[in-house]
Amino acid sequence: MKAAVLHEYGAFLPVEEVDLEGPKSGEVLVDLAGAGVCHSDYHILTGKLDLPLPLVMGHEGAGVVSEVGPDVTGFLPGDKVIFSMDKMCGQCRNCTLGSPTLCQTYGRVFTMADGTTRFSGKGEPYHHMVGAFSEQSVVPADQLVKIRGDAPLRAVSIIGCAVITGVGSVVNRAKVEKGSSVAVFGCGGVGLNVVQGAVLAGATRIIAVDTVRFKLTKAEELGATDLVDAGREDPVKRVVEITGGGADFAFEVVGLPSLVRQAFESVRPGGAAVMVGVQPPDSQITVDASQLMMQRSLIGAYHGDARARVDFPWLVDLYMDGRLKLDELITRYRPLDEVNEAFDDMNRGVTARTVLAFD
Ligand SMILES: [Zn+2]
Ligand SMILES: [Zn+2]
Repeated sequence: MKAAVLHEYGAFLPVEEVDLEGPKSGEVLVDLAGAGVCHSDYHILTGKLDLPLPLVMGHEGAGVVSEVGPDVTGFLPGDKVIFSMDKMCGQCRNCTLGSPTLCQTYGRVFTMADGTTRFSGKGEPYHHMVGAFSEQSVVPADQLVKIRGDAPLRAVSIIGCAVITGVGSVVNRAKVEKGSSVAVFGCGGVGLNVVQGAVLAGATRIIAVDTVRFKLTKAEELGATDLVDAGREDPVKRVVEITGGGADFAFEVVGLPSLVRQAFESVRPGGAAVMVGVQPPDSQITVDASQLMMQRSLIGAYHGDARARVDFPWLVDLYMDGRLKLDELITRYRPLDEVNEAFDDMNRGVTARTVLAFD
């Protein structure tokens, strides 16, 4: 069986033969159908995010249950599932308050609950979250969300990260109200879903900011009402102009402290800037104190404050009803072997999302 395994940080992700143990207590074996290639994967590849290696890559995917381990209830072979990258205990304060992405028991782990891994190569254990860049994966049942049987798995595979991180930041975290003005700084895979989330929330003005024409055109296709090319004009000045004094909400969806500051400066007194992008480790963000005093907020959003079991089936239903766009976000499908080409496309800004498709 083949999987993409990161052995050392760099620019190339090898696809190789791996061994996969069957599911143990509380675990499920899944045959992958589709796995989205995310910008965070590239950050992991290049060492910008420091994770334990070797690592079976991929955190966004969907597939079909192949085998159910002991003590698992609620899943049967043949069920369609979407992976959730959040491991939640359901018992801690944050889980109980409805923010399982911030689970205080598990945090982010790269092994199973017992500390062992199911993937290995030549006897060496391989770390994994949900191991989506693999033909098959073993995942804890609590990181699977069962979805309706008529959903096309390749399309809905991007819900688990790109879609929920964007839409969830708008509806769960920022709680954007109808009639709001929303500026979106960075219209890649997640930013485009901030645009979609703003549409779903009933925002009136949705201002897309980027330097890449392809991304601005995509943003317009997904519902942006105004486009700002940050390479040609001052985006802060332009957003303030368009909104007549500053947006109600501005989202930073790139991962640059300077852009978080621009988002903050784009909101009106009383408005909120929301940091969605993954920032460089140890980076600092400074804002003007007098602007902060005027009741502007700067808030962080992690993984769209997702409640996977509630949010994923909701997003699948919206897609099936034609109210959430996924096909427009997936620029192309490629086989697992072409994962490096998918990274190249992402870096050249010619794809919104590539999905690795499995037979
Ligand atoms: Zn991701
Ligand atoms: Zn918890």
